[in-house]
This record gives sequence, structure tokens and C-alpha cells, in this order.
Amino acid sequence: MVGRMGMLMEAGGRSMMFEYGMSPTKPPSYPLPAPKVDHAFLTHCHLDHCGMIPWLTSRYDNDIFTAPLTAEIAEMMMYDSLKIAKAEGYPEPYNEDDIERTMRNVIPLEFGDVIEVGDLEVEMHRAGHVPGAMMFQVFNGSSTLYTGDIHTINTRLVEAAEPVKCDNLIIEGTYGGRLHPDRKQSEKAFLDKIEEVVNRGGKVLIPCFAVGRTQEVMMLLNGTHYDKWLDGMGRSIARMYMQYPEYLINPKALRASRRAFKEVKNAQMRGKARKGEVIVTTGGMLDGGPVLNYMKSVKDDPLSAILITGFQAEDTNGRMLLEKGYVNIDGSMEKINCEVQRYDFSAHADHDQLVSFVKGCDPQNIVIMHSESREPLYEELNGRYNVILPELEKTYELE
Ligand SMILES: [Zn+2]
Ligand SMILES: [Zn+2]
Repeated sequence: MVGRMGMLMEAGGRSMMFEYGMSPTKPPSYPLPAPKVDHAFLTHCHLDHCGMIPWLTSRYDNDIFTAPLTAEIAEMMMYDSLKIAKAEGYPEPYNEDDIERTMRNVIPLEFGDVIEVGDLEVEMHRAGHVPGAMMFQVFNGSSTLYTGDIHTINTRLVEAAEPVKCDNLIIEGTYGGRLHPDRKQSEKAFLDKIEEVVNRGGKVLIPCFAVGRTQEVMMLLNGTHYDKWLDGMGRSIARMYMQYPEYLINPKALRASRRAFKEVKNAQMRGKARKGEVIVTTGGMLDGGPVLNYMKSVKDDPLSAILITGFQAEDTNGRMLLEKGYVNIDGSMEKINCEVQRYDFSAHADHDQLVSFVKGCDPQNIVIMHSESREPLYEELNGRYNVILPELEKTYELE
């Protein structure tokens, strides 16, 4: 194990790195330096999975197996995190040339593809989570499934992951011990709240993650009659998604929702958007992006509302808003006096969904990664299966 997300697998005479990410905290936290690898496998484009791949490639010139959509979005995220590092004075773990080299080394794959890597075969499967997200199954006599982040329900954006029979299962456990509310009910509560706020004369500010959540919320709002605006990196991602309709559960609906939103392309339009009824904008944890600009115009209006649609990590503005009612805008602590609500549109499987996915895969060994609350999953699964909770820098042998 080399970090919260990052796993080195030695098999068939090859050394393979499954993801190599960083946590985009302030300052960012980086994984342990990786030993030499021959190949990297990238499940999806979130920075905690892809953020350090250029570091790897700059040293080992390894290839990167991933979906073409993932590569395209990851490239944008890497450049963006480099830009933030420069602006904030954080150490830069790689440079622009390293990102370019990473992109040159990408070997694009589709779901259902089976490739040969040395003596091994690797098969790609759909992971749900966000468009393009992939699970990798490595065949080496026995088979090992590496899931990355998964969701096992169809969302408006992406089709669910399905269990894959395997001997070893390396699975994420983000929502171990926790359950999501019913998706349909969350969606209804969210739409009802927007209607209420607009009817009372307020504006609705919806901060969203650029990848996945923005587009899902757009689709949810498709067919509503409000004056709707879209700002931030989520715009570019929506455009990229339309170039890869094969990863979307309903590309027509996303195309229609893009037409239903006015896109903010410059400062003048941002001024107009501020007078609109519904604003969907990046960033999802209120730590950067155009959202802070819009906060200024709703924060003192009790008729308006901020609707949080994603997980808020510790030490983020979003978490501070939910817990204390304050947000740091341009260095000053501002009290937020408008209504604030939170909705669960998670892109991760919850405890029960993970357990039924595991049962469907029916492995002998399970390794639980990507989780701060792994014990409830351990409790439920160990005994029936051999469950491993990996520790940093440790090596584990699977048959
Ligand atoms: Zn993810
Ligand atoms: Zn993740």
C-alpha cells in the first residue's frame, strides 16, 4: 500500500500500480514515493485516484491504461491542481511536461476489453460512480478485481456497476457503516425546496463538484421552468461528456439539460447570472471556483438558499458552513444568513450496497480500501470471507 488510494500489484513478472492519487487538501497530501512500475491502471478521473500519475510517469515512463474520457478529464484536473499549487505556493510534485508525457503514454480501453499484460490478462468492467469509471479484473491463474470507486444503482448520469465473480476483491469502503437515503426521495425533496425558494422570491445557489454531480443536477432540473445558469469547470466536463455519449445512461437528457441552462462565459454574464433564479456552479466544497462570487450575493438574503449536493471534507468551507454557519471568502470570515440545506446524491455505494456487491462477487479474499470507517464492513463480512484492512507500506500476499 502506498497511500489512501494507490496499490502496487506484483504478478506475472510485472509491477502494476492501480491508481496513484493525492488528497487535494490545503496543503495537498501526497502518497509514499512509488518504486519502479511497468504499468499504471487508472479507474477514474478524481484527483485522489489520478493526481500523482504524472509523478510516476516522469520517473518510470510507464504506460497508463484507462478510458479515453477519464484521460481527458484527468488531464484537466492535473493542470488545475498544478495551477492551484502555483497560486498557493505549495510544492509542485511534477510539471506541465510530465502531464504531457502522461497523456502520450495513455492506452485507451473500453468496457469489455481484455488486454494482455505480460503473462496476465486484464478485463475492464463498468464501475458506475462517474462516467468512464472502470474496474479492472486481473487474471493470473486466479482472478483479482480492483474496483476503484463504485456505485451499484443507476443514477441519472451513469449505469450501475455489476458484481463480477472473482477470487480476490479489492474494493472501496467509503460509506462503510452508513446508508444513503432513498435517491428518489432526495431528488424530490431537493426539487421541492427549489420551488419553495423561487416562489418566495429567493435565489437558489447549488455548489456542485465539476465531475458528475454538476451534470446530474442539471439533468434533475431539466424540464423545470426556472431561469437557470451554469458556471465553472462543470461546464467543460458537461461538454466532454457529450463527446463520449457511450458512457452516459441517457445522453439525450444531458444534451437537453445543457440547452436548458445559460452558460456563464465571462464576467458580464456572471453579473446576469447573479440575477437568475437557479445557479449551478463549481466548486462543490465551496473552496474555490466561481461559487464564492455567488455566495456574496445570496449570503445576506434570508429568502435565498444554498443547497449542498456533495460530501464536505474536513477543513473545507463547505464543512464550516454546515457546522458553524461561516464561510471564508477571500480571507474574511463571513456569516451566512440565507437558508442552507444538504442533499445526499452520493456517487458511492453505501454499506448495504457494498455488502450485496461483495456477495455477488463471492470472493475468498477481500481488501477494503479508501475508507475511514472500515470496521463495520469488516464486522459484517469477515468470517464468511477473509477480510484484510490494509495498512500503509505493508505488503499482502493473495493466492
Ligand atoms: Zn471518485
Ligand atoms: Zn475516491
